[in-house]
Amino acid sequence: MSKNSNIQMAPSAITEEKGVWILHNPRFGPEGTHFHTYGQLTPYFKGLTEGRLLGTRCTNPQCPIDNGADNLWIPPRMDCPDCHMPMTWQEAPTLAGYVYAYTKVERGGTGLEIPCPYFQVDVKLDGVATIIKSWLSGGTDSPIKIGTKVHAAFQTGAQATHTNLDLYWVRA
Ligand SMILES: [Zn+2]
Repeated sequence: MSKNSNIQMAPSAITEEKGVWILHNPRFGPEGTHFHTYGQLTPYFKGLTEGRLLGTRCTNPQCPIDNGADNLWIPPRMDCPDCHMPMTWQEAPTLAGYVYAYTKVERGGTGLEIPCPYFQVDVKLDGVATIIKSWLSGGTDSPIKIGTKVHAAFQTGAQATHTNLDLYWVRA
C-alpha cells in the first residue's frame, strides 16, 4: 500500500433511493449532517468504489463535434456538452494512460484530505476525450514528467471516500 492511500475523511454513510446515492456527511456533528445526492452521476461514483472507471458517450449522429461516434467523457456528463442530447454509459476502454500535465502540491488548502506533498496529475487515456485530473500515489520522492506512464487505481470498499478522490493514479 502506498503512503498516499490513507485519505482521512469524516465518517459518512451512503444510502440508496431509487438507484440514486445519497451521502450523509456528519460534517458538523449529528445535528449538522449534510445530505448530498449524486443524482444521475451515481453510476460513476459507485463504479469507483468497485474499481471500475465509467464515462458517458454521445451517440447522436448529428453531434457537431464527433458525430457521436467516439470520445468518452470522464468524469461523465449526463447531457452532451456539444449537442445537449442525453449520453450513454460505458466503461473506460483502458486504465493505462500518461501524464499530460502535473503540479507538485507542497501545501494543500483547508480541508484537503490528501497528504502533502503529492503530485496532482492530469492524465490522458486513449479513447477518452477529457483530461482526467486526480492525484498520483507514492509521494514526490520519485520525479515525474509529462509522458510518465500511469495506471488508474481506486479506493474501494471501506477505503472509499465516495468522492473523486477514489480515482487516483499509480506509476505504471
Ligand atoms: Zn453530442
